[in-house]
Amino acid sequence: PDCKVIIIGGDAAGMSAASKIRRVHKNWKITVYERSPHTSYSACGMPYFISGKVDSSEKLIARDPKTFAEEYDIQAKVFHEVIQIDPGKQKVLVKNLKTNKSQWDTYDKLLIATGANPHKPDLPEVDSKGVFCLSTLQSGIDVFEFIEKNKPQKASIIGGGYLGVEMAEALLELDMEVTLFDRNEYIMKTLDTDMSEDICSKMTEAGVRLKLDENLTTIEADSDGYVNKIKTDKSSYATDLVILGMGVSPNSQLAQLSGIKLCDTAAIQINSKMETSHPNIWAAGDCASSYHLLKEVHQFIALGTIANKHGLVAGSNMAGEEMEFRGVLGTAITKFQDLEIARTGLSEREAKEADIPYETATIKSSNFAGYYPDSGDIKVKLIIDKKSRHIIGGQIIGNKGSGKRIDVIASAIMGKMTAFDLAMMDLAYVPPLSTVWDPVQIAARRLI
Ligand code: FAD
Repeated sequence: PDCKVIIIGGDAAGMSAASKIRRVHKNWKITVYERSPHTSYSACGMPYFISGKVDSSEKLIARDPKTFAEEYDIQAKVFHEVIQIDPGKQKVLVKNLKTNKSQWDTYDKLLIATGANPHKPDLPEVDSKGVFCLSTLQSGIDVFEFIEKNKPQKASIIGGGYLGVEMAEALLELDMEVTLFDRNEYIMKTLDTDMSEDICSKMTEAGVRLKLDENLTTIEADSDGYVNKIKTDKSSYATDLVILGMGVSPNSQLAQLSGIKLCDTAAIQINSKMETSHPNIWAAGDCASSYHLLKEVHQFIALGTIANKHGLVAGSNMAGEEMEFRGVLGTAITKFQDLEIARTGLSEREAKEADIPYETATIKSSNFAGYYPDSGDIKVKLIIDKKSRHIIGGQIIGNKGSGKRIDVIASAIMGKMTAFDLAMMDLAYVPPLSTVWDPVQIAARRLI
């Protein structure tokens, strides 16, 4: 081969890069080392597999190692962990997790796509049976199998972020008694509290016991090692399943140990071509930083949307075709039962922190024509820069069809549009799907 490429990590970022490189160069040797049993899986789909909505974990796998080998000539070696990088000699030390044997492999170009590590509290019984973090597909399969076998009744979710909310929905569907703990007074803190209050109400109505402003302090297990109780700084709770959704941090230690520069957030520092501080080494996905287009700083934002784009850009540059990754706005979406939840850009809190003079407008409307059967609610919050009138943030919660309207706001931010521009944008309307003034535009009109 003309060139030997090694990729560490075989999921969203790693395999997007591998596929791009293969499209450009038919004869380069591409090897991917992946320590888990799977490649190209949808971690995002795990809550829906655990709830039973998606009936098999196989459906969450886009391409397995056999498909990569046969159809793309990409060697994806699962159960192989890279334990050291030697950037000077351009080689990596790889441990075969089945045989426990390690050997060096050399590269011309290296991509680090090692993802993120879920936060695990430093508590003695954190590894008890029935206590789980969700990260790789295997971790989702482990939760699924535990539930099948042990039929837990009382589930505790620690952390009210995206994962906590999605898992609360999943475990309610399995008829569990669900308690969600958060150390803050509100959940979903990437949104402002006036929006997350509505999410709290919805979850409480649905039967989730919300324990806010409570800190996990102890996990206890029975004599067989199964979790049976957790304690917070306020009380103690019997439980037979614990899901830890306490956030993630970049899996950048391997890079750091080889001298690759990290940024303040501990994510690997990259430029717009996804190049690291070392020649011939790129980084992409959750392990790498992303430039925030409004804050104008490198941030750590762990999202599948970003990881896929990072992978494409890194792969393109590795293959010799120049491509730039412009940056992110932190656009994200989730749902709890029939409530869709989305955000983009700066929240009001973030605008305040960044000392940006801002104005906001929050409106309540209908997700489609009020007279059309089963129409529901939508609440839109828009944030604009007070001086330039440019849109700088948006949050939406509401029924069917509400959430993806966030993409209109994200487009308006990317296009540096003012509130007036957004209000006058030519958007589509038909009664079963919208209102004649789209709710996003109703909010924008308040800021003209
Ligand atoms: P990962 O997907 O974490 O892949 C990294 C891979 O590297 C892993 O497979 C790991 O085993 C492997 N690896 C790590 N270190 C080594 C090593 N030393 N040697 C070999 N292999 C190694 N994002 C969204 O945008 N929308 C969603 O709805 C959404 N839902 C989510 C739901 C859940 C439950 C979770 C856990 C995440 C969700 N995300 C979502 C986030 C999204 O899954 C991640 O941002 C995305 O998977 C990141 O891709 P990545 O390739 O950077 O890292």
